[in-house]
Amino acid sequence: MAAPGLAIRGQRSLLRQIREALAGGGPAQARLDMVVRIIARSMVAEVCSIYLRRAAGDLELFATEGLDPGAVHVTRLKPGEGLVGEIVRLGRPLSLSDAPSHPAFSYRPETQEDPFHSFLGVPLLRGGRTIGVLVVQNRTERVYEDDEVEDLQIVAMVLAEMVAAGELLGGEALKGVEIAPQKPERVKGAKFAEGLAIGVAVLHEPPMGPSQLLTDDVVAEEARLEASIASLRLQIDEMLDGRHGLVESSFEVLESYRMLAHSSGWNRSLAEAVRDGLTAEAAVERVRSEHRARLGQARDQYLRERLHDLEDLNDRLLRHLSGDGQTARELPVGAILIARNLGPADLLEYDRSKLKGLLLEEGSATSHASIVARALDIPCVGRLPNLRDKVSEGDRVIVDGETGEAFLRPRADVVKALQSRMDVRAQRRAEFEKLRDTPAFTRDGAKITLLMNAGLAVDLDTLAETGAEGIGLFRTEFQFMVAEELPRFSAQTQLYARVLDAAGDRTVTFRTLDLGGDKVLPYLEADREENPALGWRAVRMGLDRPALLRLQLRALIAASRGRPLRIMFPLVASVDEFRSARALVDQEVAWAARRGRPPPSRLDVGAMIEAPSLVWHLDALLPMTDFVSVGTNDLTQYLFAADRGNPRVSDRYDTLSPPLLRALQAIQQGCADTGTQVSVCGEMAGRPLEAFALVALGFDRLSMPPQGVGPVKQMVLSCDREAARRGVAALLRSNAGSVRNEIETLARKLYVAI
Ligand code: PEP
Ligand code: MG
Repeated sequence: MAAPGLAIRGQRSLLRQIREALAGGGPAQARLDMVVRIIARSMVAEVCSIYLRRAAGDLELFATEGLDPGAVHVTRLKPGEGLVGEIVRLGRPLSLSDAPSHPAFSYRPETQEDPFHSFLGVPLLRGGRTIGVLVVQNRTERVYEDDEVEDLQIVAMVLAEMVAAGELLGGEALKGVEIAPQKPERVKGAKFAEGLAIGVAVLHEPPMGPSQLLTDDVVAEEARLEASIASLRLQIDEMLDGRHGLVESSFEVLESYRMLAHSSGWNRSLAEAVRDGLTAEAAVERVRSEHRARLGQARDQYLRERLHDLEDLNDRLLRHLSGDGQTARELPVGAILIARNLGPADLLEYDRSKLKGLLLEEGSATSHASIVARALDIPCVGRLPNLRDKVSEGDRVIVDGETGEAFLRPRADVVKALQSRMDVRAQRRAEFEKLRDTPAFTRDGAKITLLMNAGLAVDLDTLAETGAEGIGLFRTEFQFMVAEELPRFSAQTQLYARVLDAAGDRTVTFRTLDLGGDKVLPYLEADREENPALGWRAVRMGLDRPALLRLQLRALIAASRGRPLRIMFPLVASVDEFRSARALVDQEVAWAARRGRPPPSRLDVGAMIEAPSLVWHLDALLPMTDFVSVGTNDLTQYLFAADRGNPRVSDRYDTLSPPLLRALQAIQQGCADTGTQVSVCGEMAGRPLEAFALVALGFDRLSMPPQGVGPVKQMVLSCDREAARRGVAALLRSNAGSVRNEIETLARKLYVAI
């Protein structure tokens, strides 16, 4: 018997043989039989079988070379049954030198598989779902080489796409094979952004279709690959030269990218994959899966970091292959975007007029993608595990941001119920609109200033619509996140001037760049950090690299053109930081004056209170600020030591809890004692119940996402502040972890609209 070996590579690759066999047409079963025969011969295996998943989840033997042909369409394995079921369960290959001794082995007499000992099975994966299993077997007890496992995986990748695209089995033969789920499904997740939407599913990272996997023109494909690698190398060299600015800190990372991009191993693997008939993109995916398989299990920190570098390098190469700077996909109208997780910049790249909703497998309500979703008024539900396996592109889906659920392929009655809830929401919005010009006074006469959080030029339209009295937090980093490269002085000045123009007499508080943490810029290389939320971010970055911060301050002063200007620094953790930051503002004002430019008619410089350290140094901080604003998103994160972007811990601690409320009370008290203007601008300010607690604590400036303004105003108008103050003061002494229920009961008792 010939020694089993590898035959995928070479003159006439296995993939090309399969393609040629299929091009011949003929009945579906005959074509499938031919495919298993080719694979068996090419892999020097005595058996090759394909199992496909039926709608009920059973795996059915669809074709075999080497087992008893009578078993085809007879042998069926329940989910999790046998080695094939085990592969589906694991979602990865299983290689055994003696299959019958494996505990999951299930003997099926009709297959006549007694003589075969070694077994290699790989899943047919499509969009993260296992739609079948491809198996090869040999008589001898042998160990399959890594290369053979990888080769079979490539074949499986191509077969899966062919099955899904109907290229392998005709419509009739495919009947009952579950390529994609068809049944309606309701999935419970978490609310990230309010609202309701129905639309068509669009995958943020769609699986590659078969036509995108294989190429007939190997020479052209090789040229495309080479050109892209060359432009990738050039880009890395340019970054190393510092031409893209701000790269000093990341030489080490870039050096390692450069080494990898020039490494003969990486280049050879890619070139070989293309010579085997894969497209350049599929070659990248294949090399990526090889790296993952080899390095993914590594315990060694260094090796795991190299995997991270390689992943990044592969992503970069894919961007180069798709033409420079790969922009977001064109969306159909009414798109519901589906992703594992999204960075805020990814989300901002999509056409907002077509994007109706967002569903995420991970994420958290205070992550910046969620904040951007709220800013764009796009309902978002997150923490929907394995969602991408449950839904296909084009499926109809509902995002229910009120209950935190997703409905996949909903039945007509569910759609109808949704439609009537959408009508109710529209009516409520109309009610809020009627309140637009009503000033927000509590029933006992306290004026509450309601402001809006913004960050994009498009937000400016909303300012008038909501009736907000100004912008309490303008997140300037959003402009940087949507840009392809560092926005220049003129672009920054223009945006700030537009914001001030649109605001007219209303106040605007510009927050200086709050980058780092989860707000990363593709063009701004920075060292990877173990703990980005606790790392080099926000004002820390600004003070250490003052050029960027000074440019921004200069742009803000230029944009003010003699109008009032309010500047606020994010994540100040010590009074010294505030002192230094403020000194930069003074320098820039002096710089403008020396050039005869009009200074702002009034300049207010403030700090965000987000680091708990400041709560115990208010007596020092407040006299040197013109105002402060409490960022409860970060304050909560740092107070409870719970990463706001990590779903496991982000909702573990309640904002309506004695520790946070007491910290807020201390801030409010300190500000009242020193006459310092204070606002709250975290997400909690936009939720009526939380806003009720803030008003009770004495806060009278709240800045929130635009959709919060109407409901919070309704709350304020119905609230007796003095009664609220007494009730909440008593609850602050509670020994409970959370007093949410108690505050809600209090609000209801006082007939407050929450
Ligand atoms: C906050 O931390 O509460 C805040 C308003 O800032 P951001 O959410 O942008 O970090
Ligand atoms: Mg913050």
